[in-house]
Amino acid sequence: MFAHSIRWRLQLWLAFLLVCVMSGFGITVYQLKRIDQFSQIDEELEIRIDALDRAVRGGPPAGFGPGRPPFGRGPGRSGFEEGGRRPPPFRDGAPPPLMRPKPVDLRLSPEVTGLFDESRTNSFYFLAWYRGGTLIQQATNAPADVSFPERLGRDTQTHLRTRDSFREAYHFTEMGDCVLAGRSITADWQALHRFAWWLLAAGGAVLALGIGGGRRLTTRAIRPIEEISAAARRISESNLSERIGVKDPKNELGRLAGVLNSTFARLEAAFAQQKQFTADASHELRTPLTVLISEAQTTLARERSAAEYRETIEACLDTAQQMRRLTESLLELARFDAGQEHLQRAPLELAETTRACVDLIRPLAEQRGVSIHCELTPAKVSGHADRLAQVITNLLTNAIHYNRPDGEIRVTTRIENSAAILCVSDSGIGISAEDLPHIFERFYRGDKSRSAAAGRTGLGLAISKAIMEAHGGTIEASSEPGAGSTFTVSLPTGSNAV
Ligand code: ADP
Repeated sequence: MFAHSIRWRLQLWLAFLLVCVMSGFGITVYQLKRIDQFSQIDEELEIRIDALDRAVRGGPPAGFGPGRPPFGRGPGRSGFEEGGRRPPPFRDGAPPPLMRPKPVDLRLSPEVTGLFDESRTNSFYFLAWYRGGTLIQQATNAPADVSFPERLGRDTQTHLRTRDSFREAYHFTEMGDCVLAGRSITADWQALHRFAWWLLAAGGAVLALGIGGGRRLTTRAIRPIEEISAAARRISESNLSERIGVKDPKNELGRLAGVLNSTFARLEAAFAQQKQFTADASHELRTPLTVLISEAQTTLARERSAAEYRETIEACLDTAQQMRRLTESLLELARFDAGQEHLQRAPLELAETTRACVDLIRPLAEQRGVSIHCELTPAKVSGHADRLAQVITNLLTNAIHYNRPDGEIRVTTRIENSAAILCVSDSGIGISAEDLPHIFERFYRGDKSRSAAAGRTGLGLAISKAIMEAHGGTIEASSEPGAGSTFTVSLPTGSNAV
């Protein structure tokens, strides 16, 4: 469950980020502190090495003012040489062994001895050797195991080394004598360890705070989603007319709630429509069924003549045919709704299909005294010939049915803006502005008396609309009550055809 929870995933991610950032920060701070601490020690060691070097050379220590009189003078002279006696010239860079001076006290100036004050904590120690490693002098606090450093060639650089828990700097004079200064770094390591623990504790506290704050934040951020899902569950389970409360319609969750609300509204409308459709369908079927049953019951109530029976059977047949038309229409609409009505389309000439429909319907029009005028210009479309003929016949039948005696019907086909257009206009009763928006709805009948009288289903235009939509086309109506109506069908042509 945790693996799927957004809140937990967010929190884990946040904790991971915090751990990474805090460890990176802690390690960097620790390293900087360590480098700073050791460079301070190294600086101090170098000051002391410098002072010792001057002492062994016999010069005053740098920065300590006038010191004792020099023990040896100038470069090439060792402070260990007695009375400043000049040694014989070097042969191969080394003085003759016979001239090795005797060990003497360095007689360090107070400023230099001050640098090695043993009474101070973390005090520095020093050692001084002759060339070859004979010890001249060492501070009393110097560790016993300090070895004479190894010299590479004629190296006179100051070197730094860490030996166990000691940091030391050493330096060789040109003569090969060596001075070493050092100090214990145990206390420094301990201080560094304390600092590391402090960093760990501070990092842990920040981590705990970060995770706690993150938890609060994610909980607050996720809460509206939980509210939305609870509301959505309530709506889908019980009441489709309920809506999700939107606190801030501008933020992401507000927008999500808005989208869900409009989906629920559409669902509610679709359910209402479906409910209405079922109610209408059962009502439409019940009426002819009632007629059928009552006809049969009345006829069977007593003995009838053959002519009477015939009359009853004819009436029943009429009603049954009406029911069949209705059920066929309902099945057709259901197939369109389910997307099961796959129209096999082929190129066809809309003008020709229209002419064939007009020819078929003309006798009915003449019977009603309605004249049909055609202006059919070629308009090639891709469509299902029978279904398009069904739409045209329905429009023509309506134009005759809702026309006045001696009325007119005008039928045109043309190409307009890459679309094939079919118009059926009549000079009939027209459609009121109130009815006009609803005439394509299922079972909607504008003129109730006329529709009912002719046993019309109120499904003709709804089926026509479904057929046109399946073709990627449209069907629209305009009307002037009392003057007539115009139905316009538009179909895509050529490359626009679906
Ligand atoms: P019906 O079976 O009732 O004709 P339709 O779906 O074909 O069903 O039409 C729906 C309604 O549209 C009709 O009841 C009628 O009120 C209106 N109507 C359709 N065609 C016309 C027309 N040519 N003139 C006036 N009203 C029309």
